Amino acid sequence: AETLLIVGGGLAAATAAEQLRANGFAGTIRIIAAERHRPYIRPPLSKGYLLGTEGRDAVDAQPAEWYEENGIELILGAIATSVDPAGHHVGLADGRAFDYDRLLLATGASPRHLELPGAQSVGVHYLRTLDQSDDLRAALSEGGRTVAVVGAGWIGLELAAAAQVYGNEVTVIGRGEEPLQAAIGVELGRVFRRMHEEHGVRFRMQASPQSFIERDGAVAAVVTESGEVAADLVIVGAGVVPATALAASAGLIVLDGIVVDESLRSSDTDIFAAGDVANPWNAVLARHARSEHWANAIASGTVAAKTMLDIPAVLDDVPYFYTDQYDLGMEFSGYSSLLQTARVVYRGDVGAREFMAFWLAGDRVVAGMNVNVWDVQEQIVALVRSLEPVDREKLADPSVPLASL
Ligand code: FAD
Repeated sequence: AETLLIVGGGLAAATAAEQLRANGFAGTIRIIAAERHRPYIRPPLSKGYLLGTEGRDAVDAQPAEWYEENGIELILGAIATSVDPAGHHVGLADGRAFDYDRLLLATGASPRHLELPGAQSVGVHYLRTLDQSDDLRAALSEGGRTVAVVGAGWIGLELAAAAQVYGNEVTVIGRGEEPLQAAIGVELGRVFRRMHEEHGVRFRMQASPQSFIERDGAVAAVVTESGEVAADLVIVGAGVVPATALAASAGLIVLDGIVVDESLRSSDTDIFAAGDVANPWNAVLARHARSEHWANAIASGTVAAKTMLDIPAVLDDVPYFYTDQYDLGMEFSGYSSLLQTARVVYRGDVGAREFMAFWLAGDRVVAGMNVNVWDVQEQIVALVRSLEPVDREKLADPSVPLASL
């Protein structure tokens, strides 16, 4: 019988295992996972789970018994350190080795660490894992702390919201003119900034940390080009780097992630990649494009599983991302790399933060977001997918159904 080995243990790994069984694979499925927790989903770690409104069950990718019921061997707390593509086996840090017929690398990504003076101080936090979310909750939940959030992207703003809701004093330090600028542009970034300011969050924009000041063994301030920001707790959300060390040890082509085709095949016939670590060919963008989102972990885990079973499949989903901050819920569907030159068209009430925004390149919708407006995401995806020219006035007019555009 064949053995399919998965290295990772995040959502892409769990989804692939599920899809291998769903598509009829009856051989051995083994997951090697570095963390001691069974696969879980990360978005709640900076939202409901951090805030204590969602419990441990809400983050499980699958319930505990599911692995046994589906004959999936889960090896937790095990770090794969080498791949021998010729011999078809993977070596672990603890000396064990496992053979494979086909191998999926779903090693994800890890936070970009700041290499700055004082960056190792007590009180400087990063967030990727369940354990780190537990630590952060313990640090934030009593309130009364002076918190600096480094990074004004999605994670940074979610963390700012959570810290503020717990009754801490929060300053966000960000590089751009507005938060989220790289993700959704200046105009929309301003909408999010206003909301945070209404909740009492302060912003120090066009600034980046130069060093951290330590006092009595713990962090006391972040030094930026425009002065110090006092902080007895710092949370860094400065992006992630794909975990490619294992792929590189296998001699695979690695360039901002593991380079794979639309079907998630790497440069080795029997090795595949999915999730944050994969850099798949994207036909719409006509280049390789890595995605660091939850929906991509599911979509790419599914495609990789099929490809491993020689079932034809390509990854052609429109990228999707969501966020929750205070009482605002947002979904974004589309190609963020095409936004910087696109023009924004609004539908609904931006001031009341109940609206949609569409990005047009020429007359084509390349992305759309819905903010506190629900059940429209599929229609937005259809618009992005259609590649058809749309009428701007109709797009802006809430009385015109999106499906008729
Ligand atoms: P990961 O989830 O990173 O899992 C990879 C796993 O592989 C890790 O557990 C790692 O320890 C393990 N591993 C790595 N190397 C080895 C090795 N050599 N041997 C064994 N195991 C190894 N996305 C959204 O779309 N919306 C959101 O709102 C959102 N919020 C987020 C909030 C937070 C706090 C974080 C951290 C992420 C968020 N994301 C969000 C992103 C989303 O969680 C990721 O895209 C997703 O987790 C990617 O899944 P993955 O399986 O590819 O990788």
